[in-house]
This record gives sequence, C-alpha cells and structure tokens, in this order.
Amino acid sequence: MIQKHNASSLHYDFRLQIGGVLKSWAVPKGPSTDPSEKRLAIETGGHSLDYADFESVIPKGQYGDGTVLVWDSGHYENLSRQDGEQFVLSEAFAGGHLSFHLYGQKLRGGYALSHFRRESERQLWLLVKMDDEHADARRNPVSTQPGSVLSGRSLEEIAAEEG
Ligand code: MN
Repeated sequence: MIQKHNASSLHYDFRLQIGGVLKSWAVPKGPSTDPSEKRLAIETGGHSLDYADFESVIPKGQYGDGTVLVWDSGHYENLSRQDGEQFVLSEAFAGGHLSFHLYGQKLRGGYALSHFRRESERQLWLLVKMDDEHADARRNPVSTQPGSVLSGRSLEEIAAEEG
C-alpha cells in the first residue's frame, strides 16, 4: 500500500508487507508508470500491519505531523529470482534488490526496488517500473488520481474533517 503524506514535505510512503511488518520507503515524487523514470525511495522504519489503513491527521508536535491518505492498496506477487530460483522477499530485501508485481487499484505490473547508496544514516533505493504491458509513459497517476482509494477524499478534505 502507498500513503500520500503531507508532512514537512509531500511524499509517498511505499509499504510492502514482508514477514510481519510493512517495510517502508519514502518516495518524494511518488511512483511512476514510466520505465524510464527512476524514483528515489528513502528507506524508513518498518510499520505494523494495522497502519495499512491509517488515513487521518498526525497532530502537530508528533513525528511526521501532517495529513495522510491511503493513495493505493492491493496485494503483490514476489518476482525476485536468484540463479533462476524464487528468492523470498525478506532475503531479496536484505540483498538490496526486490522485484514484484503489484495488483493495486492505481498501480499494476512489475516494479523493482534497488538499493544504490548509503548516505550517512539513510539507505537510498530506486523504485522503477518494469517494462511490461502495464508500463505507460503517458499515465501520471500521482497527478491525475490524487485522492484516497479508501474514501475518495483529498488531503484537504481529510485535513478539514479530521484536523
Ligand atoms: Mn511519511
């Protein structure tokens, strides 16, 4: 699932359930459907599974204060392979390269997350769309489908109703 989070700067929290937690990356520009677009994804702390449907306002003074909406959700299929063998996602994560097929409401098809650099405390990854039948360089769901898949609301509506 992906949360759109209007904190000190707007970003998209990309979360994959691996084992019993939501492994998480903050993607400043959000995901792309264009395979030629590499999107920076900064690894963040894992979240518990019950955070997956969190959509509300984090109060001022708390970590990550700002409005959160559930921008996309769905299941995924692990595509990670090593030497032709299926590679469990927790090991692929530890190895710094994950491949998976998303079955979201907005995002579909293959994506890869690849670790490329450590910058002081931050682990930097790239989120890239695979070139498959769901790849589309003209689609831009971050701008054309801005609302919540849970409630249909915008960040502004959530802030007004729950802030
Ligand atoms: Mn966030």
